[in-house]
Amino acid sequence: MIRFVDLKAQYHGIKEEIDSAVMSVLESTQFVLGKEVASFEEEFADYCQVKHGVAVNSGTSALHLAFLAAGIGPGDEVITVPNTFIATVAAICYTGATPVFVEMDEKSFTMDPQKIEAAITNRTKAIVPVHLFGQMADMDPIMTIARKHNLLVIEDAAQAHGAEYKGRRAGSIGDLGCFSFYPGKNLGAYGEGGLVTTNNPEYVKTMRMLRDWGAETKYYHDLKGYNYRMEGMQGAILRVKLRHLEKWIEARRAHAALYTSLLKGSSVAPPQEMDYAHHVYHLYVIRTPQRDALQKALQSKDIQNGIHYPIPVHLQKAHADLGYKRGDFPLTEQVADEILSLPMYAELSNADIRQVVEAIQAF
Ligand SMILES: *Cc1c(COP(=O)(O)O)cnc(C)c1O
Repeated sequence: MIRFVDLKAQYHGIKEEIDSAVMSVLESTQFVLGKEVASFEEEFADYCQVKHGVAVNSGTSALHLAFLAAGIGPGDEVITVPNTFIATVAAICYTGATPVFVEMDEKSFTMDPQKIEAAITNRTKAIVPVHLFGQMADMDPIMTIARKHNLLVIEDAAQAHGAEYKGRRAGSIGDLGCFSFYPGKNLGAYGEGGLVTTNNPEYVKTMRMLRDWGAETKYYHDLKGYNYRMEGMQGAILRVKLRHLEKWIEARRAHAALYTSLLKGSSVAPPQEMDYAHHVYHLYVIRTPQRDALQKALQSKDIQNGIHYPIPVHLQKAHADLGYKRGDFPLTEQVADEILSLPMYAELSNADIRQVVEAIQAF
């Protein structure tokens, strides 16, 4: 069998460092926040080329807190894309604001900057580009439009740890950047985790309060807050894993290059790395009109794969109240029917990649 991801292989590569980090948290009893989490916040912010990091208990919580810190609430509109994981849109709804969708760019599968201005109204408060599959959205035009209309930009960087746009890291260009450390992400905890990056100390202060019941001093609750704190164990584990991240990204990029060169001349379209991008290949996503049949063929050869995502958010039943219908985003809808994610993780072998491509060619 060829796995889609193999978290066990990764653990075995760093077992001693992880085990000793976990043991040290057990001895310290700093199970919630604490010094490991504080150190991780500094180290990850540094990695992202920003001043501050606020660690939380999931990527969804990171988005929610970033939106609240940005002052987004009922009556506001927030522009994002329908081709994303549901959490981007759910977190907008948690604040009481209304998500407004725009179409994607066909090459990058990220927000098409040319579609943004038509979606702006006098209620629009922010733009939320999603750095999908490990490649950043086209940030220069997005920032220009945002500044022109006095809007905030919050990057959904949940799939883009270490990704770059013209040499600048994901999470460092918008007003706030949101990361997930769900186990399968490029930097994954052993449980749930998330973090918000920003250069704005006011946002940091608000988010530190909101993640811990709205209190700066224990039991003095100035804001209506949440329990969004990161666990000490996850902070310690993420500090260890952050030291390996660049090496893992390079391995992913090498796997992607091999896939793409072997797929040349086949009937499937490989992902396109934009000129502006340093793609970190959270997912390696090919496109073919015969997707469903190809998926069956791979499954019959025990090659795991995935579809990210089969139903765009504007067509999900949970968000039917937004009033969108099939046909509103034709490109997004067509791409959702044609994409397939191939096995991708740092420890994947070249022999496995060759076998996957042979199965595609045989099909
Ligand atoms: C994973 C993900 C999230 C949510 O992160 P969780 O840690 O699972 O809450 C948000 N947005 C995108 C694009 C994601 O891939």
